[in-house]
Amino acid sequence: MDTPSIDAGSRLLALKHELVAANRILAHQGVLDAFGHVSARHPERPGEFLISRSCAPELVEIDDIITMRLDGSISEGADAKPYLEVPIHAEIYRARPDVRAVVHSHAPAVIPFGIVTQPLRPVYHMAGFLAKGAPVFDIRACFGCTDMLVRRAEQGAALAQALGSSAIALMRGHGFVATSTSIPGVVYRAIYTERNATIQQQAIALGGPVTYLDEDEALQADDTNMGAIGKPWALWKRYADRLKALEKRATLDHF
Ligand SMILES: [Zn+2]
Repeated sequence: MDTPSIDAGSRLLALKHELVAANRILAHQGVLDAFGHVSARHPERPGEFLISRSCAPELVEIDDIITMRLDGSISEGADAKPYLEVPIHAEIYRARPDVRAVVHSHAPAVIPFGIVTQPLRPVYHMAGFLAKGAPVFDIRACFGCTDMLVRRAEQGAALAQALGSSAIALMRGHGFVATSTSIPGVVYRAIYTERNATIQQQAIALGGPVTYLDEDEALQADDTNMGAIGKPWALWKRYADRLKALEKRATLDHF
């Protein structure tokens, strides 16, 4: 393997720190709990991606980040135990060269839309990334009876095929995947997928027809929101940093 230049090395380190922050933010925002994961494509080697070893997202530290190849093998961090559902990430990176970050979540508010015929659609401007809809991947339709986890490359490839060019795909009876061109972008989309699902359920429960954003409105809103991604990212990161500092202080006080 080539030794990275100083610039490439510092870019990689910055990305790893961003990925640690993403894990903690998504945990604090209720999008990930003990389960679920977030990854980022390697900045220099597009056939590899960075992801935590199998670890609850809120507990992820910089040393937990490993580098994996698209075939599911480990490139850096050989002794680590990876997440069972790594093929979700590998196969989306393989199918979608534009994608640079992926989240897989089991957020409860999103689950209903994978098990009813009512599609998840953008109900407000913050979820403009749902412009192209949220296709549903049903693992049973392709692979029969399983434990519902995307464990194998061909299962990940089928999920990536269902995702198509959308930003989000739902997984029947399981969760969803979110994609973006950056870590802040995918964190934003995962958070607002969960919020859109909650609001859509509230709107449906009120009764009567629901007015959704049309595709053009949603696309324009997404452009605006992605252009301003630095603002929510700075806030979410501040919360995550504060909580981490409190954790450290509590540990020191304990001793
Ligand atoms: Zn899962």
